[in-house]
Amino acid sequence: MMGAAGSPARRPRPAAPRRSMWTAVLVAAASIAAAAVSVSAAAAGDADKPPVGTVIGIDLGTTYSCVGVMRNGHVEIIANDQGNRITPSYVAFTPEERLIGDAAKNQAAMNPSNTVFDVKRLIGRKFSDPTVQRDKKLLPFAIVNQDGKPMVEVSVNSDKKVMSPEEISAMVLTKMKKTAEEYLGKDVTNAVVTVPAYFTDAQRQATKDAGQIAGLNVMRIINEPTAAAIAYGLNKKGEKNILVFDLGGGTFDVSLLTIEDDVFEVLATNGDTHLGGEDFDQRVMDYFIKLFKRKYSKDMSKDKRAVGKLRREVEKAKRALSSQTQVRVEIESLFDGQDLSETLTRARFEELNSDLFRKTLKPVEKVLKDAGMAKAKVDEIVMVGGSSRIPKVQELVRGYFDGKELNKGVNPDEAVAFGAAVQGGILSNEGGSAGVVLLDVAPLSLGIETVGGVMSKIIERNTVIPTRKTQTFTTYQDKQTTVSIQVFEGERAMTKDNRQLGKFDLNGIPAAARGTPQIEVTFEVDSNGILAVSAEDKASSTKEQITITNDKGRLSKEEIERMVKEAEEFADQDAEVKRKVEGKNSLETAIFAAKSAVEEGGSLADKASDEDKESLKAAVKEAQDWIEESADDATADDLEAKLKDLNEIVQPIMAKGGAAGGGGAPPGGEEDDTKEEL
Ligand code: AMP
Repeated sequence: MMGAAGSPARRPRPAAPRRSMWTAVLVAAASIAAAAVSVSAAAAGDADKPPVGTVIGIDLGTTYSCVGVMRNGHVEIIANDQGNRITPSYVAFTPEERLIGDAAKNQAAMNPSNTVFDVKRLIGRKFSDPTVQRDKKLLPFAIVNQDGKPMVEVSVNSDKKVMSPEEISAMVLTKMKKTAEEYLGKDVTNAVVTVPAYFTDAQRQATKDAGQIAGLNVMRIINEPTAAAIAYGLNKKGEKNILVFDLGGGTFDVSLLTIEDDVFEVLATNGDTHLGGEDFDQRVMDYFIKLFKRKYSKDMSKDKRAVGKLRREVEKAKRALSSQTQVRVEIESLFDGQDLSETLTRARFEELNSDLFRKTLKPVEKVLKDAGMAKAKVDEIVMVGGSSRIPKVQELVRGYFDGKELNKGVNPDEAVAFGAAVQGGILSNEGGSAGVVLLDVAPLSLGIETVGGVMSKIIERNTVIPTRKTQTFTTYQDKQTTVSIQVFEGERAMTKDNRQLGKFDLNGIPAAARGTPQIEVTFEVDSNGILAVSAEDKASSTKEQITITNDKGRLSKEEIERMVKEAEEFADQDAEVKRKVEGKNSLETAIFAAKSAVEEGGSLADKASDEDKESLKAAVKEAQDWIEESADDATADDLEAKLKDLNEIVQPIMAKGGAAGGGGAPPGGEEDDTKEEL
């Protein structure tokens, strides 16, 4: 975007124009040296590795988690000690012990403030994140702010215990690890863990950290919809467009993927972070609470125990209604000694939730629109998540796709873990499965700040990851020995409208004329979506780097959506601001080039006539004065017109001396197409 080709006049800067404004700011760079998204290399990389032992696949869900392993070419989903193939992502603290999974969920109603769940909503987010603030109000346990991070607070035997979402997730992961170990009869340390496609770097990194705390080597973080598609073997069926409809307990995610030659790409994601089975349960509970009040004049709504009991029975009834058309709900002595004994029909259940069910089609529509794909182009629809079993939901989705059959053969609670286990099998080289390469995309553009506060994108939004890109920069001042690299993500043209991820200085650059040093800035996003940025001075091999980690406050899905939308809204305005900054740069560059050409040692010093030198100097002075006085209020057109005026006088003189025009080579005499200043 700010490549040299677009603005040939942009070269060295005048000696000291508003130094403070330019200090520590990068000037736009040159060509992208390497944009390596090598599918074959990635595939070979996995295949060449020596066997690593068993690699389990874990679906670390908001409400439930599931673990699987690939053995002899088959995936086995592993049941926990209660015989359940899915384990609630719940951790509870009682005066006697810590409980994880079913045992924790079963006592939730009696111990609400010390039963922790839904931490996937918090992981990798900042305390100030609006979704954290909203969830804080909804969740029955305490969430406190510690150094800007949301932490879970429980109190056991009047002792307060504060834990991070990573620690709680680690407890759930430990349970999954143990489940696998008991089944396999050996220790397991390697795992593939899934995350929603929209998870940011911070959320992915935090998930990895949780694995580490649990004693797991998380070899890959993969996207849940990709895992689900793998579970259906869709990677083996040629080029396809796949829509994954994942309606779980608390969240709803829709993803549109393409697969070609074993490579998955996420085209678009959408969903609702607060829509799922628990909302359907709530509707039914509200219905029964009202009915109970009407019939017996007793209001149980404030009694946590009664409400907890009702929730458990209602959920059971809801599940039953996916395979039968009516169900009895019987709870002895539910509240104030009164029993509940009612029939719930599927029709009533559907009526209570009809608006919520219909709401699931909006994100489907959105992903297709965002990806610019007609619904007829969708080859496969994959139903994932326990709530995708609800017949009415299936009917609506099928109806939307004009009667197309849905992929719902693999148990929807297990499809994601199944796919993770397949990927684990590939990584372990034990699974007996051919290599699948997973490719995901960067959700937002990544870049650095260049002169005038411009966002210079190095990795464009939706670039397939893993990826590595390099751009070359140079200094903007004589004898400059330090450059500052400021890393941003976002779609707006100016960095002030984007989000800063981190910054670092590269020191120890050998003093040289401006424009001489070559500083290579490399952005690398790994297959887990984690970003590393490095800068290297080629002459001295001095190198600095930074890994953008979870405490840097990366963006939530909602924020990403907002930023992309804003970028669209402000596109014209941003383009004008950018043109203005570039126009000013070009003019300053031309002034500097002309000025240095007639100075001692410059290309015109001995060649041009005195008369030419004088008229050039006068033109330069005039342009310089104009910049001082008017540049701030000038439009991009004014700046470009001014450059044209200057070039009309300067270029013929420069040509006589054999020098290039206003955008001529810097004093260092470097070739003019590869680098600009930091
Ligand atoms: P997940 O988070 O994907 O495991 O989904 C769990 C949600 O699916 C919970 O809200 C369950 O109540 C719901 N669920 C599981 N089985 C069924 C079923 N047969 N019919 C309706 N909802 C179900």
